[in-house]
Amino acid sequence: MATLDADLVARKLGYACVQDLILHLPMRYLDETHLTPLRDVRMGVDVQVEGIVVHAEVQNRPRRQLLVEIAESAAPASSHLHFRLLHFYPSQLSQLQPGVRVRLFGEVRPGFFGAEMVHPQMRVVRENTPLPATLTPVYPAVAAFSQNAIRKAVEIALQQADLSETLPDNVLEKLFVGCGYRRVGASSERSEPHHLPRHEERCGSYLTASYVLPSFADALRALHHPQPDADLNALETQTTPAWQRIKFDELLAQQLSLRLAARQRDQLSAVSLAGDGGLSERLLAALPFALTAAQGRSLQEIRRDLARPHPMNRLLQGDVGSGKTLVAALTLLPALAAGGQVAVMAPTEILAEQLFLKMREWLQPLGMEVAWVAAALKGKAKKENLARIAAGEIHVAVGTHALFQAGVSFANLTLTIVDEQHRFGVGQRLALREKGSEAGQTPHLLMMSATPIPRSLAMSYYADLDVSVIDELPPGRTPIATKVLPLKRRDEVVGRLRDYCQSGAQAYWVCPLVEESEKLQLRAAEESHVELTDLLPELNIGLVHGRMKSEEKAAVMAAFKAGEIHLLVATTVIEVGVDVPNAALMVIEHAERYGLAQLHQLRGRVGRGARLSTCLLLYGDALSDSGRQRLRIIKEHADGFAIAREDLKLRGPGEFMGARQSGQQILRFANLETDLDLLQAARDVAEELLTHQPEVADRHLARWLPRGLDYLRA
Ligand code: ADP
Ligand code: MG
Repeated sequence: MATLDADLVARKLGYACVQDLILHLPMRYLDETHLTPLRDVRMGVDVQVEGIVVHAEVQNRPRRQLLVEIAESAAPASSHLHFRLLHFYPSQLSQLQPGVRVRLFGEVRPGFFGAEMVHPQMRVVRENTPLPATLTPVYPAVAAFSQNAIRKAVEIALQQADLSETLPDNVLEKLFVGCGYRRVGASSERSEPHHLPRHEERCGSYLTASYVLPSFADALRALHHPQPDADLNALETQTTPAWQRIKFDELLAQQLSLRLAARQRDQLSAVSLAGDGGLSERLLAALPFALTAAQGRSLQEIRRDLARPHPMNRLLQGDVGSGKTLVAALTLLPALAAGGQVAVMAPTEILAEQLFLKMREWLQPLGMEVAWVAAALKGKAKKENLARIAAGEIHVAVGTHALFQAGVSFANLTLTIVDEQHRFGVGQRLALREKGSEAGQTPHLLMMSATPIPRSLAMSYYADLDVSVIDELPPGRTPIATKVLPLKRRDEVVGRLRDYCQSGAQAYWVCPLVEESEKLQLRAAEESHVELTDLLPELNIGLVHGRMKSEEKAAVMAAFKAGEIHLLVATTVIEVGVDVPNAALMVIEHAERYGLAQLHQLRGRVGRGARLSTCLLLYGDALSDSGRQRLRIIKEHADGFAIAREDLKLRGPGEFMGARQSGQQILRFANLETDLDLLQAARDVAEELLTHQPEVADRHLARWLPRGLDYLRA
């Protein structure tokens, strides 16, 4: 194969050049290193056999195929085997004459004539044709190319690429022989997803590695061409030392690039925001409550960041209802006092709207202009808002990601606040950063989330984030009684709703999730609305869902907030941020279809006022074991962190955050769930290299990220 063809294979497989194919690693292997005598073949096992054609004929039933019988040798009593080729060329038919020797690889199954192979890999060979010395790789493939073509291209890559070691001996030795970087306890700490490690944290006790990891070149050889005695199971589960080495290298590249991105960010300058000219005293004085200790602590951490002349990059984590919005409002006061503008972004219109109303309520009395920006905002109102933002007349702009689209420009953006940040994709986060850096000064960034980040993600994708945690709820919260009931008792529930709402309380009715289709979910919501209106004529029943125009949504939410609507039928649009203290009952239909985090978020809409709150989880007939388990967890736990911990046990961190948001797909080989120890080691080595051997870091990055990885910086 010419380099040119190999280049084509590489590009069709999604690589930039042939050399990149060295990291096109096999999915599995064929053991073609020895032959199994025909008499020894076992059913259901892949084997390689050789024999002499006795007979070959084309059959037309049940479909056209070539049936061939082979014998171990010419001796009369030797063993026989049949094989069928389902696709074949006329040339193969003429080739398979009696006496011709063939080598087959495939699974042996019981067939009409005894043992047979269906469409094995076949080759005509001469007697004593040498066998390969190593296992045969099977690569991830794309249509157009045969395994053979890919194998040849990879061979060329292995010959042409630079396989030299990027890591110096001192690192390799410390890593994998004797006393390594690997630590005891890494896996047990997984049960505390909210424990966010700090760079300076050291646990001291190191684990002695029981194996020595190979060099980069040896690892590649061991993966592309394993020795015949290699542990196939360990290879395929990617747990051999060679795999560990490759995964470590990948994780190291990731850690290095994250750290470099963080350093670059540290070199950016931002407006230093110290003090707010008494604005927070005025805001707090107008509130009927005082900050909780945890809110105060988080605010202090945030204010310390704001005072620095570098952009803040902080995550504020706090359970549903812990009062993040107020902390956000207090965070933006120093920016306003300094004459800057603030953008506040939320993932959905409903949520953004809630934020907008809160901010306006709190900030307008301080003389600040708060404006609303969403995709749904059209025409004159939009034009006017955008013009006032551009002119610097608006102090705080609240909205969805529409805030960061082209056409929106700020006169003096100094701070951006993002609510429920994990719901934004990597791309949106990146757009936000780019928007910020248009001006010479980079805005400070505060992100907020109710979903605790699992430790593995905290150490990887969120490695350069500072974190504040609000770990207490405001006082006087009434606990929410959670009950689990079969849907059969729905009528009973509807009956009780009547009395409940007539006593002056309000309630939510959450419709079943229809994962496959937003449209179907919408229909379910509309049907429930009609049905409940029918059954409860004495109540005023509202409907809110994601497909409504935002003015319609706003009108319904405002009526609910004002107490004009007794019962609000809703889809998951109310999942986050909605805050109506008088609503103290929530019914969730088909609760078993929801995930734990979602149920917790939904339930967090009640328990916000003085009334005793109740959440009724109605489940359908087909309740699976895991569904039952999820409902039990929600019933038994009120604390979001505890729920997240249980969730992690059930699902693992990959699924936990949703691969799309977590950016897990960026890692090709390492798996954050199973390779936590390697990640930990990579983190330590990255720090050491950047401090003491930056040229090594450069070399390593050049191999793994030759074209840079901008999106890691999002
Ligand atoms: P979340 O953290 O889920 O975004 P919110 O910011 O919506 O929570 O706050 C939930 C409710 O708690 C709001 O009604 C808010 O006004 C109220 N709240 C916030 N801080 C306090 C406090 N320190 N004491 C009493 N209530 C508070
Ligand atoms: Mg909130």
